[in-house]
Amino acid sequence: MGLFSKSDSKSDYIIIVGCGRLGAYLADTLSDADKDVMIIDKEEASFNKLSNSFSGMTMVGDACEMFIRGQCNIKKATAVIAVTNMDNTNIMVAQIAREMYNISKVIARLYDPERECVYQEFDIKTICPVTMSTDAVCDMLYPGYKSI
Ligand code: AMP
Repeated sequence: MGLFSKSDSKSDYIIIVGCGRLGAYLADTLSDADKDVMIIDKEEASFNKLSNSFSGMTMVGDACEMFIRGQCNIKKATAVIAVTNMDNTNIMVAQIAREMYNISKVIARLYDPERECVYQEFDIKTICPVTMSTDAVCDMLYPGYKSI
């Protein structure tokens, strides 16, 4: 078995918010793993970043409005990944997914590491490129630097 189990593949319905460089790559990866993927972006042209093999759904619009209105079948989502370029949007979308729809797997990208505490309060997982990249660079410079 690879990274993803194929047995439960289509029972996963994953909503990705933001079809930028990260969102598109994630959507392609999860779609190739046979997951049911919905990707949202406010700019239709953003979907050009998806590969030809992408077999999921796309929806154009403002993700905050869509989530407030309960569109894109959010009730059925098993995971929501908020990766727009706006921390405030990611926070709002993630909070709605967690608090209103009780979705257990909610992940949000954060550009500002100082806002990580906001997410911890709401039990939302975060990825922060600033801290992850800093850790990776320091580890390349000084292997094992964290344990020093
Ligand atoms: P990137 O910076 O390459 O990760 O791209 C971020 C993506 O998020 C862009 O394609 C934006 O159009 C998209 N985006 C930003 N704000 C929103 C929003 N409120 N709703 C939907 N998509 C958004």
